[in-house]
Parts: sequence; C-alpha cells; structure tokens
Amino acid sequence: MAMDSINGDEDIPWMLGVFDVHNHVQQDSALVTGREEEQLEQVRTRWLALMGYNRVGWNTLESLLQLPKARHRIVVGFGIHPWAVECTLGEARDSWIKRVQGSDLDGLIPQCDNDILAACQGLEWYQDLVRLLNTYPNAIVGEIGLDRMAVNRNTGQRYDYRLQWLFFRVQWDLAVKLHRPVSLHCVRAATTFVAFIQQRVREWQQQSRGQRRSDKIALSDQFFPTAIMLHSYSGSTEVLRQIYALPDAVSRRIFVSFSETINQRSPQIGERIQAVPADRLLVETDLSRLNQVDVTISKVIRRVAIVRQWTITQVIETTTANAHRFYSMGGIGGTSSKVEDCQ
Ligand SMILES: [Zn+2]
Repeated sequence: MAMDSINGDEDIPWMLGVFDVHNHVQQDSALVTGREEEQLEQVRTRWLALMGYNRVGWNTLESLLQLPKARHRIVVGFGIHPWAVECTLGEARDSWIKRVQGSDLDGLIPQCDNDILAACQGLEWYQDLVRLLNTYPNAIVGEIGLDRMAVNRNTGQRYDYRLQWLFFRVQWDLAVKLHRPVSLHCVRAATTFVAFIQQRVREWQQQSRGQRRSDKIALSDQFFPTAIMLHSYSGSTEVLRQIYALPDAVSRRIFVSFSETINQRSPQIGERIQAVPADRLLVETDLSRLNQVDVTISKVIRRVAIVRQWTITQVIETTTANAHRFYSMGGIGGTSSKVEDCQ
C-alpha cells in the first residue's frame, strides 16, 4: 500500500500493540451480554480506553470491568459528557438553568458561585461518580468537557453552556482531588480552556511564591489533574503553542489525541499533529462501534506517519508508550498500578 494512502489496515503490525485512547464501544448495540469477551477478541487493537458518557453507560463499564480477560485490555473513564449534562439533570434541568443564569459568562472564563458548585456536588449523579472512582482506582475522569456547537435534539437549542461549565468544573475539581487523569472534549472552547489553565497557573504560582522548586512542583498537584487529554483535538495550532509554552510542571501533563472521525474534516490537521511534542501524542477512534475500531485507528496511524514522516512502527511504538504513560499517571497518591493492567 502506498504511504500517501490512509485507507486499509492490512499493513498494520498489530503485534506491536495499538492503543485506542478514547472510544465509547460500551455503547455498541451489537455487544451481546455474556459474549463481550469473545467479541473483544475479534478486535486487533490491543488496548481500548472506554470513556463514560452518562450514568447508564457507567453501569455497562462496571460490568465490562468484571470480565477476567477483557479487563487486562481495557481502561475506563467515568464522567458526564457535555451533551449528557441536561439529561442527567432530568426534570430539574430548567430549575438548574435558572440557578446558573446569574453566573458570569461575560469574561472569557465563566464563573460559578461556590454554593452552586456545592449544590451540584450534593446531587446523586455526583455521589455515584465519587463512589465509582473510589471503587476503581485505575479509572480516569472522562469524558467531560465543553461544547459550544452541539445542539440538543430535544430542545432544538445548543446545550446550555453555563450548565456545561458547572459540570466541567465539579468533575475537573474531583479529578484534581483524587489525582486522576481527565479526558476532555473541547469543541469551540479551546481558547476558554487555555485561559482557564493559564488562570490556574497564575494561582498556583502565587501560592507557591518563595517556595523551593520541589515544593512548588508538589503543590501543582493541588491545581491540576495528574494528566489531561485533549481528545479528538479540533482547536487551533496557536492554542497548542500556548499550552506547550506553559511551565513544564503543567505542560508535561497535557496530551493531545487525534481521530479520523472529527479531525479529518480540517485542512489544519497536519499542522496540529506537528505542533504536539512526540511524547504527548496519542491516537483514538472516538467510536461506539467495536467492529470499526481497527480500520479507523489504522487511518489515524497512517495519517500521523505521513505528517510526522515516521514509519508505521514508530507511530505505534510512540503513541502506545505515551498512552501507557497517560493512563498510569493517576491513582490515589499519584501512583498507580494501571500500567500492569495494560500489559
Ligand atoms: Zn468521546
């Protein structure tokens, strides 16, 4: 197959171990209860990171984690996706919209009152999330995020951004508190995200002024999750430059993942892939169809190979090593046995 083509998966050396760092295959309607392990064995991509989307999906993830063979190939995230925020609130949605209406959206970074954040943390979904993360110390927080484009099909309107911000903030804070990585969905919100990170950097630097370098670095764990993945990255190259200009204690935590589902539509995809340091680059499918995973991950592997002028082997070895590092940067106390789970 010619290297300028990104189709096909025949030439992929699967034995090297491909890692799809973000998908939703737990939602595949073709998954048959009791046959999941057999179905997973058909997939040549060795490691799959299954990202929670809503509370129903959390149950499926929990049951997959009980499968003796599958659990060595999967890592999971528990979180509420920005598109699932409104349905998580259910009938209380409208009263919550009224409640967050006073939040300040004028600045680049929305603000939420502490009592609104505390009230949100008192809700059942949040308590469930805390319980799951405590039960599964290798699970990450995800998928969470912000989306200024997607429309709620039930209301015909964009998903309420204030509610999204509220859910993003409480889940982000929980990830920081429990020392877990986060998987972030960021659509038309990358500028807000980078402004938020820069604000946290200023707060951290202010608090650690005059401290020894090692103490300062240790304190950064109270401001940032252990690792942050910008998944299916669709923001600008400029935002990536700003991210990688942040102090090392922060920028080393930020990984960027590319897929073929959303990112392939952008002519800037090559420039973005180039702007990510080699040791922070990841590949994913973002799919919910298990039988599409291999062919789709092959495309993004080929695209990275073309853009970075790497061999296919180099792409797989590099992105898989990065993925293991990302998923092992969690766990209470900042260390984790996740890598063992993955190997
Ligand atoms: Zn996703």
